[in-house]
Amino acid sequence: MERVLVVSTDRKQLMPCHPARARQLLKTSKAAVLRRYPFTIILRDRVNGDCQPIEFKVDPGSKVTGIALVADFKRGKTVIWAAELKHRGRQIKDSLDARRAIRRSRRNRKTRYRQSRFNNRTRPEGWLPPSLMSRVHNVDTSASKLQRFVPITSIAVETNRFDTQKLVNPKISGIEYQQGTLFGYEVREYLLEKWGRKCAYCGKTDVPLEVEHIVPRSRGGTNRITNLTLSCEKCNQKKGNLTAGEFGYPDVQKQALKPLKDAAAVNATSYAIGNMLKKYGLPISFWSGGRTKYNRTRQGYPKAHWIDAACVGERGESVNLNPDMQPLIIVAKGHGSRQICRVDRFGFPRTSAKGLRIVHGFRTGDLVRAVVPNSKKKGFYTGRVAVRSSGNFNIQTSNGTVQGINHRHCSVLHQADGYNYN
Ligand SMILES: [Zn+2]
Repeated sequence: MERVLVVSTDRKQLMPCHPARARQLLKTSKAAVLRRYPFTIILRDRVNGDCQPIEFKVDPGSKVTGIALVADFKRGKTVIWAAELKHRGRQIKDSLDARRAIRRSRRNRKTRYRQSRFNNRTRPEGWLPPSLMSRVHNVDTSASKLQRFVPITSIAVETNRFDTQKLVNPKISGIEYQQGTLFGYEVREYLLEKWGRKCAYCGKTDVPLEVEHIVPRSRGGTNRITNLTLSCEKCNQKKGNLTAGEFGYPDVQKQALKPLKDAAAVNATSYAIGNMLKKYGLPISFWSGGRTKYNRTRQGYPKAHWIDAACVGERGESVNLNPDMQPLIIVAKGHGSRQICRVDRFGFPRTSAKGLRIVHGFRTGDLVRAVVPNSKKKGFYTGRVAVRSSGNFNIQTSNGTVQGINHRHCSVLHQADGYNYN
């Protein structure tokens, strides 16, 4: 059951409460709404209360990151709050590419007024491309917001999709690895990802795939992950005692030695997220993605980013959750552009310079509620506002944009913070 975040009168984090309880508190004026997203109430008269341990769990992804808060109740571990954070990595890459193109074209025109500079940039240690770094910052922002409203006691992060150490040398730790259940999971998942979820030989999908030795065992091939691929039963039988090269697939043989291409980039991002979260000074643990999937499948939960987050690590082995629960969807939107005005396709100014950013205390992107009394636009409107220096704003509601709403009728529900919520 999803819970409502609660803070005390002096803004100390309290145990999140049941929505019905929150409704009752709000109705009887014992609490007030402190924040819309994540929904948090502030108590008027209570200062402290009992807290159970709460773990903040993250499953970083390249497009979406799953976040779950799992409380350690007497009756078992339970998901009390969840969110899915959508990143804007691709957009950042595109806009940096566009900027680079503009700068290049400017250098090639006959407008040069200074010598070109090159080879004068350094990168600090642990540097990541901006598109990857934005994912790290997104998770960090969410963590720091939650940490203000929830008494988090520990953090668990999925840091790598595949535990490459353990894939290559399954003996290094843990009885489960040696006995093959979890180890088998990591290996299969790795191979599925590497070979594109299809038979490496005939390319068939949606058939049961078998783990297959590229150089057969009988010919001296090893069980190392680099010697394994996936094939359908037919191809496996046909190949028999041949190596992939002899079977007529030299490219399969070649690809065997290459590691999974993007695993390194995903791992780098996840490690950066893990390091970033260390600053909260809470006990933090790192886990592999194979383990997450193993936990999730064993409990029969469907695939969702927030469920994956809840299933991260050893403590994800038994988690109570309702698969129908609606997680908070957080979409990273950035903070607008620095361009002074819009340009046409040739790069010439098309509009006049942007006006003031803050008008009568409102900022474009704020979530506002407008109550318009007697006029043509009489009614209630809720949505994102676009401010105009005239004081008559546009509000983007779910039924389209309403124009010319005076600022006197508006009140801010949630200030623009670079994210959309629903
Ligand atoms: Zn096949």
